[in-house]
Amino acid sequence: MENIQYNVFERTEPVVLPEQLGFGKYFTDNVFVMDYSAEKGWYNPRITALNSLQMHPATSVLHYGQTIFEGLKAYYTANGEFQLFRPEENFIRLNNSAKRLCMPEVDVDFCVEALKELVWIERDWIPRGESDSLYVRPFMFGTDPFLGVKPSDTYTLILLLSPVGAYYPEGFKPVKILIQDEYVRTVRKGLGECKTAGNYAASMAGAEIAHKAGCTQTLWLDAVELKYIEEVGTMNIFVQFKDEVATPMLSGGILPGITRKSTIQILKDWGFNMNERLISLEELLNRYEKGEVLEIFGTGTAAIISSVCELKYKDRSLVFCNREVGKLAERLFKELTGIQKGVIEDRYGWTAKVEAQTITT
Ligand SMILES: *Cc1c(COP(=O)(O)O)cnc(C)c1O
Repeated sequence: MENIQYNVFERTEPVVLPEQLGFGKYFTDNVFVMDYSAEKGWYNPRITALNSLQMHPATSVLHYGQTIFEGLKAYYTANGEFQLFRPEENFIRLNNSAKRLCMPEVDVDFCVEALKELVWIERDWIPRGESDSLYVRPFMFGTDPFLGVKPSDTYTLILLLSPVGAYYPEGFKPVKILIQDEYVRTVRKGLGECKTAGNYAASMAGAEIAHKAGCTQTLWLDAVELKYIEEVGTMNIFVQFKDEVATPMLSGGILPGITRKSTIQILKDWGFNMNERLISLEELLNRYEKGEVLEIFGTGTAAIISSVCELKYKDRSLVFCNREVGKLAERLFKELTGIQKGVIEDRYGWTAKVEAQTITT
């Protein structure tokens, strides 16, 4: 791969971050971009000022949806350093999505180094509040100006940075979730394992129904039998039964979350009977009636851990932990954010420091 070219925005004023960052509203001065063509492979890697994209109306992604993305975060740590959380995992998953959508793979190590370089240049944009971070959105899309249905021959990869605040501005608050049986999100052997725009497009009608029912999100059931719980729109789901913590196994319809994987590891190390398996809706409802479901929580990069205080299904309502934050969810939240923020020792080697001159060649 060629060296990265720098054409960065020359800032004359210091960065001033807004009080209320919210999520995904503000962007840093620069992005990393590289292009792909069938003849050249990936070429022209560059860190350059953020600008609008110009596209031909026939650009393939706009018609046939060849686009994939990732989401991870950079943190300002307790001892004044900058670090990423498991960045290799995100580019490995990007490559898995790419393969399924007939898109080109990237060099994982090169992308991690490019990301570190970009985050270093933009380090003044990393907010320093306790629950703040710099959200990283890598994404790739097909760029051929051609209306025929086939994989694009050309692509662009962009790493976009957005300073974000606490996911729940009122504090770590439990959420209500609607079990969705009107629509499905993905099917096994479809695109469920991929982080791709189409899955989100498919989820919006279900999310609207959830909002109307006073819920923040939807819990999707498997698309074949509507029998097993799968995941929430942007989170994987965990159930603490009285003798076990279980999460739906990766069946092909579920996004393999990195927070999910980290949570499984931590729970095993804490001595929990942690299992990845099929969890039927029937089992969940029956064991709830018997008082055997202690706690439910979601995992994902945006909120890290989200405690679920209520599940709604048809005319039933399952309430957990007296509608308060669950103990296990809170303990996991503290552990994971502690590692990410450098407050708790990273005994797993999950964090990657961002330092000056990480690129040597
Ligand atoms: C991104 C995503 C998740 C969470 O994955 P993390 O790697 O933990 O952020 C869960 N479900 C879906 C559908 C997602 O797109």
